[in-house]
Amino acid sequence: MIKLIREIVGGLYSLLVGMRITIGQFFKPTVTVHYPHEALKMPPRFRGHIELVLDPETGKPRCYACKVCEKSCPSDCITVDGVKFEGAKRKSVTIYKLDFTRCSLCGSCVEACRDGAIRFSHDYNMAGLSKEEFVIDLFKKLEDETRAAGGMPFLPPVAAGPAEPAGGGALPGAGGAAQRSRAEGAAVEPNQTEVK
Ligand code: SF4
Ligand code: SF4
Repeated sequence: MIKLIREIVGGLYSLLVGMRITIGQFFKPTVTVHYPHEALKMPPRFRGHIELVLDPETGKPRCYACKVCEKSCPSDCITVDGVKFEGAKRKSVTIYKLDFTRCSLCGSCVEACRDGAIRFSHDYNMAGLSKEEFVIDLFKKLEDETRAAGGMPFLPPVAAGPAEPAGGGALPGAGGAAQRSRAEGAAVEPNQTEVK
């Protein structure tokens, strides 16, 4: 009889200990992230793929296509080009592509850009079925994000751009050439769109 009582008391005690731990955990803050419905908050120094930085004053990319980052990349994974619009002091970027399959996240490009026109994104959520999906049009990506937030397109519409001059000279608006170069994903011909 005493043995039975001891077993009952022992069982109740272990049940209470278990319940105390369960109830204690129940009221603690949740640490599980319900991926993919929730996103992790990356630390400030996290290095995702590089991205263009928007100039809040102009509503356009800070990048002016100087190509320093392109030259500084040891893996040759950046393609950048731009045009100089009439009256502008310097170029505007029209093409900025990143081949992320070759990027080692070394940071040379970000360090080389003196104007802070590129930075590491906090995008950790990248997946794809082909390597082509990791060749990222960073110009278009930023433009799409800006337009989704109510901003203006970065380049003038094709119709607004007059025909290109046969050789050299700034294009008023430079819209046609810039738009076409972006659509084709090709480098802008210097003698068509740029002012030397
Ligand atoms: S991101 Fe910076 S270094 Fe690269 S082309 Fe633009 S302005 Fe030049
Ligand atoms: S982080 Fe390094 S490898 Fe990647 S694009 Fe920049 S310079 Fe190239």
